[in-house]
Amino acid sequence: MKPSITIVGAGAVGCLTALAFAKKDWQVTLVDQGVLGGEASWAGGGILFPLLPWNYKEPVNQLALAGAARYRELCEELFEATGIDPQYQACGMRVLPEFDGEAALTWCKTHGLTAEIQGESLWLPEVAQVRNPRLMIALGARLKALGVTIHEHTELLQLQSATAKVQSWQSSKGIRFESDVYVVTAGAWSHNLLGEHAQPVPVKPMRGQMLLYQLEMGALSTILYRNDFYLIPRRDGHILAGSTVEDVGFDKSTTESAARDLSRKARDLLPQLADAPVIRHWSGLRPGSPDNIPTIGRHPDFDNLYLNTGHFRYGVTMAPASAEVLSKVVCGSFV
Ligand SMILES: Cc1cc2nc3c(=O)[nH]c(=O)nc-3n(C[C@H](O)[C@H](O)[C@H](O)COP(=O)(O)OP(=O)(O)OC[C@H]3O[C@@H](n4cnc5c(N)ncnc54)[C@H](O)[C@@H]3O)c2cc1C
Repeated sequence: MKPSITIVGAGAVGCLTALAFAKKDWQVTLVDQGVLGGEASWAGGGILFPLLPWNYKEPVNQLALAGAARYRELCEELFEATGIDPQYQACGMRVLPEFDGEAALTWCKTHGLTAEIQGESLWLPEVAQVRNPRLMIALGARLKALGVTIHEHTELLQLQSATAKVQSWQSSKGIRFESDVYVVTAGAWSHNLLGEHAQPVPVKPMRGQMLLYQLEMGALSTILYRNDFYLIPRRDGHILAGSTVEDVGFDKSTTESAARDLSRKARDLLPQLADAPVIRHWSGLRPGSPDNIPTIGRHPDFDNLYLNTGHFRYGVTMAPASAEVLSKVVCGSFV
C-alpha cells in the first residue's frame, strides 16, 4: 500500500510539499481552511530573491537560492501540464542608493551571481519573478491531475494527541483525517494550530500591504528596489508596489497611512505612477520567524508529525527547496 500524508495548509509551501510527495507516489491529502493559495502566497510579490541577501544569515540565502534555481523548470512543467503560465521571468533587479556596494559585489561573487555597478545603481540581471496567483492556480491544477485529494474550506482544529504518534486530526467539518504522516504548512497560523505543542514553531503573523497599478505594457521592464521598497512589473503592464512589514497580529485590514506611504514611494521611484490610479490595495499575513529562518523537520514531540513553516518574507522563493528538504527528512525516517 502507498504511504499516506496529510498536509495542513495549501499555500506555496503546502502545495510544493504536496507536489514532492505526489511525485514520490504517496497518497497525498491537502487541507486548507480557506481556498488553495488564498493567503500569503497569493498576496506576495513573487520576487525570487532575498531583499537583500547580504543583510541575511547564510541559511536564509542558501534556501532562497536553491528555491529560486528550481523555478524556471517548475514553471515550464506547470505550463506544459496545465496550460496555465505562472509567468516566470528573469527580469533582473535594479537597486538604487543607498546600498552597500562592496558587500553586494563580494556576496554576489562568492555566490556565483552577476552584479554590476552602473552609474549610481546596482544591476542584478539574474533576479527573477513569478506571478503568484497564476503560480497557485497552476499548482492546484497540477496537484489535482496527479491525484492529490484537496479539501478546501476545511479547518483543522488544534492538535490533540496523547501519544507520540498522531493517529488522526480532527477538522471543523467533522472529518477526521488519518494518515501515516502529517505536515504543518499552515503559514502564519502554524503556531496556533499546534496548541500545547507549538513551542518548536516560533511563527507569528507579519502583515504586508501592497498596491497595484496599471501602466501601458513595457513601461517598466525590471524590478526597481530602494530602501526596502520595490516596484515589480508584470508582463501585461500591471505594477506592484510594496510592501509594509507590520506586527499587528491576525489583522488583514488595509490602512490609509500605508496606501499614502507606498504611493509616495512608488511615485518617487517611477514618476509616471503619479498619474496612474491605484487599482487594488491588499494585505497578506507572512509567517514571521526569527531571522527569517523557517522550521523544517520533524516535530520533537511526535514520530510522524513534520513542520515546514516560518518562511517569513521569502516563502514563495524558498518553497521548492524547502519541500525537497522536508521530503528527504520524511523519507529518511519513514519506515
Ligand atoms: C505583501 C507580501 C509580499 C511578499 N513578497 C514576497 C516575495 O516577493 N517573494 C517571496 O518569496 N515571498 C514573498 N512574500 C512572502 C511569502 O508570500 C510567504 O512567505 C509565503 O507565501 C508563505 O507560504 P505558506 O504556504 O507558508 O503560507 P500561506 O500562503 O499563508 O499558506 C498557509 C495556508 O494554511 C492555511 N491554514 C492555516 N491554518 C489552517 C488550519 N487550521 N487548517 C487548515 N488550513 C489552515 C491557510 O488558509 C493558508 O492557505 C510576501 C508576502 C507578503 C504578504
